[in-house]
Amino acid sequence: MNGAQSHPEIRPPADVLAILDRLWAAGHAAYIVGGSLRDLLLGREAKDWDLATSARPEEVQALFPGSLYENAFGTVAVGRDGLGAAVAGARPEPVQITTFRSDHDYADFRRPHRIEFADRVADDLARRDFTINALAWGADRAGESPRLIDPHGGLEDLGPRTLRAVGDPRARFGEDALRMLRAVRLAATLDGGIEAGTLAAIQARAHLVAHLSGERIGAEMERLLGAPRPSIGLELMASTGLLAVISPELTAQRGIAQNKVPGDDLWDHTVKAVDAVPAGRPAVRLAALLHDIGKPATIDEGPFRGHDAVGADLAAALLERLRTPRATAERVVALVRHHMFTYDPTWGDAGVRRFIRRIGRDLLEPLFALREADNLASGQAADAHGLDELRRRVREQLAGHVVLERGDLAVDGEDVMAYLELPPGPRLGRILDELLERAIADPAVNERGTLLAIARSLLENAP
Ligand code: ATP
Ligand code: MG
Repeated sequence: MNGAQSHPEIRPPADVLAILDRLWAAGHAAYIVGGSLRDLLLGREAKDWDLATSARPEEVQALFPGSLYENAFGTVAVGRDGLGAAVAGARPEPVQITTFRSDHDYADFRRPHRIEFADRVADDLARRDFTINALAWGADRAGESPRLIDPHGGLEDLGPRTLRAVGDPRARFGEDALRMLRAVRLAATLDGGIEAGTLAAIQARAHLVAHLSGERIGAEMERLLGAPRPSIGLELMASTGLLAVISPELTAQRGIAQNKVPGDDLWDHTVKAVDAVPAGRPAVRLAALLHDIGKPATIDEGPFRGHDAVGADLAAALLERLRTPRATAERVVALVRHHMFTYDPTWGDAGVRRFIRRIGRDLLEPLFALREADNLASGQAADAHGLDELRRRVREQLAGHVVLERGDLAVDGEDVMAYLELPPGPRLGRILDELLERAIADPAVNERGTLLAIARSLLENAP
């Protein structure tokens, strides 16, 4: 179990090794730990590098001039170019060096309230969440050849990518409820699963997630939605009861019939839609998760009538709770609001331009991507109901430099005010709106003299 073994295949990048060397040379124990070692052992590219050391934060800072003491938890950030030597392949993210520590006094089911620095790597590994995150590779001093430390059987769990709590899972989730969300998130990002005892403990303690800040929940959701197949984590969230705490509205989708794919309920449809969006489009994935969030509440309104508008409000409230950055939240809510758009091939070009104006240029591509996912998750072709034709026609209009918004008109408010000797106000606004309508319908009128003449007649004929 507590096997310290040599692992010749572990080859950290040269600059990370150089940082370890400097710590060892100064008489400190130093190890690669956490997600970076896990990913290295899995043959994946590590996102960020975490080291743990016996050196105290001040000692680390003294060894790496220019480093930054980041927080109260003993973490010092060292720039990867901070060693003088230019190292090939260096990326900008600094290496996080954290003093060995043990955590104490958990209260409110969140984070430790007190930490204590420790001297041995084993103490530090014992506070970590899952066995595959509780491995260390390094040495206690210079001259000792680096070895893998695995006190909790992480190596064995790494093969099947099993999330197994370090120690008693119920106690560990009681200390910090975020670990339950980390478990489902890591199961998704690693394409793995959760060990039975750990899973049962999540089921028993899921309610504690209510004590976490929306921001921490939101951050884990964001990482989950970035996984190759988010459905792994979403299904686990639903089956463990975590989802019910975070979004009762989404949980209510379970059991609601869909006459789209035989045997699928609404939640199945949602989860499939999320998976169907490419991983590189996080906002569209979030929109796919939320696109039908209004359906359970509108189940009695004909066939979910108004679920897009109701859903947009519910989505806005949820994203606010999760502290989603405003720009992202607004886009996602707009996507939910517009996700029921329809296209009729008999539309003229003016109809296509009105569609573009209604949706807004920037939202068109994401909305089409959402519809593709929605189609696929409904058992249809990605481009069902003329989606590709609409896309092509939209592209044609956009390429034609046609009038789509006020800024595209050949006159602005100042021009119209001066010409009509009209003060600013609602009358002017109505005239500009009407000019825009006419120019969208017929681009030929978008010419200064024509627009001003139309403006004059609008003013004279106004009631
Ligand atoms: P990722 O690859 O997504 O960064 P990670 O496992 O590295 O995953 P981090 O948030 O970077 O996640 O955390 C680094 C390490 O710190 C983890 O591998 C784990 O050992 C430990 N850790 C993080 N959060 C917790 C927690 N809430 N409780 C216990 N240990 C934690
Ligand atoms: Mg990490």
